[in-house]
Amino acid sequence: MGHDLTTTHVRLSPIPLHAGRGLRLVRGEGSYLWDDRDRRYLDLMTNYGVNLLGHSHPEVTAAITNQAARLTNAHQSFDTPARDEFLQALGALLPPPLTRISFGNSGAEAVEAAMKYARVATGRTGIVATHRAYHGRTFGALAATADAKYRDPFAPMLEGVRHVPFDDLDALDKVLDDSVGAVIIEPIQGEGGVRVPADGYLKGIRERCDAYGSLLICDEIQTGFRTGAVFAFSREDIMPDILCLSKSIANGLPLGVTVTTEAVSDRVPKGSHGSTFAGNPLVCAAGAATLRVLTDEGLHRRAQHAGDRFQERVRGLGLTQVREVRGRGLMLAVELKKPVTPVIKAMQERGVLALPGGGTVIRFLPSILIDDAQLDEGVEVLADAVRQAG
Ligand code: PLP
Repeated sequence: MGHDLTTTHVRLSPIPLHAGRGLRLVRGEGSYLWDDRDRRYLDLMTNYGVNLLGHSHPEVTAAITNQAARLTNAHQSFDTPARDEFLQALGALLPPPLTRISFGNSGAEAVEAAMKYARVATGRTGIVATHRAYHGRTFGALAATADAKYRDPFAPMLEGVRHVPFDDLDALDKVLDDSVGAVIIEPIQGEGGVRVPADGYLKGIRERCDAYGSLLICDEIQTGFRTGAVFAFSREDIMPDILCLSKSIANGLPLGVTVTTEAVSDRVPKGSHGSTFAGNPLVCAAGAATLRVLTDEGLHRRAQHAGDRFQERVRGLGLTQVREVRGRGLMLAVELKKPVTPVIKAMQERGVLALPGGGTVIRFLPSILIDDAQLDEGVEVLADAVRQAG
């Protein structure tokens, strides 16, 4: 018996997977968002690091609207000028030998592809990830994500993935062997609380991967373009075998890419991976426009300067409730000695949006185009909210 579609009717509501912020957002411009009561918010979280160029960036908006009027979708079995432009724009930022790319629609999909390529390229099923790692929530990516809260309800996980303490090369030495196809690492952990490893950590991982014939997957889905350099891995002068990018790469449209070497790509069988919407002209047009803006070296220097200034200002407040201020470029965190939820709520009530990064960490992922006065406003509101929470 089928349903009579003329009479059936349900009131749909989302599965309650997220703690709501209690705001109905209607528009954004630059570093500001407005709610349905026309209240303005300074956005220091940019949709978990997505709107790196701020909201409604004119060049990205023009690219999206022009492309929307021409062609929104074309499967990857067809070429499109928008995809070519994106490839050219990203290629201009990538070092050799990262010459091969595949498309997905999210960060998790970029990681999923990376894990599959590592498996097929090495013939090994082992993956080493780190404690506090966050790589997404599809089954493969989830297996590399560390937090039990995301994993346990959906156990058992993909086999062969092990976690070691972050920023600990000795721990890595204990698990590496010839069953490990890849080590996956966030050059700076994001969701895990903006954890910056010691200098030499990434280089140490690279050397160990080379020694064991394992691939190095750099997940720059959060770090990409915001740490004062195009990619965070470049600081240590190392080269990943596979690079995952998403979030800010199309400044708001869903795009994830997995970039790799010819050596890896040559082992991936034709037709073995893909997705209907991936690499569509609309997201590629947004991505190309975003990357053209991000090619400006001055912006990366500015991100470094603005981030350093923010850290100095917060430290200068001398707040006794603050345990540590850390980060690089515009990937920033203030760790408190107490839970941050009331502080983030108080900031929101004062018109500033920030993010948690674990129970005691307030995370800031502002636009790379934010100005000093706006960041200062954020610091002021943070200080008030921390003092108010006592
Ligand atoms: N990897 C990192 C480092 C991330 O920060 C995230 C998202 O926060 C992901 C992967 C997953 O991306 P998505 O939420 O688009 O699936």
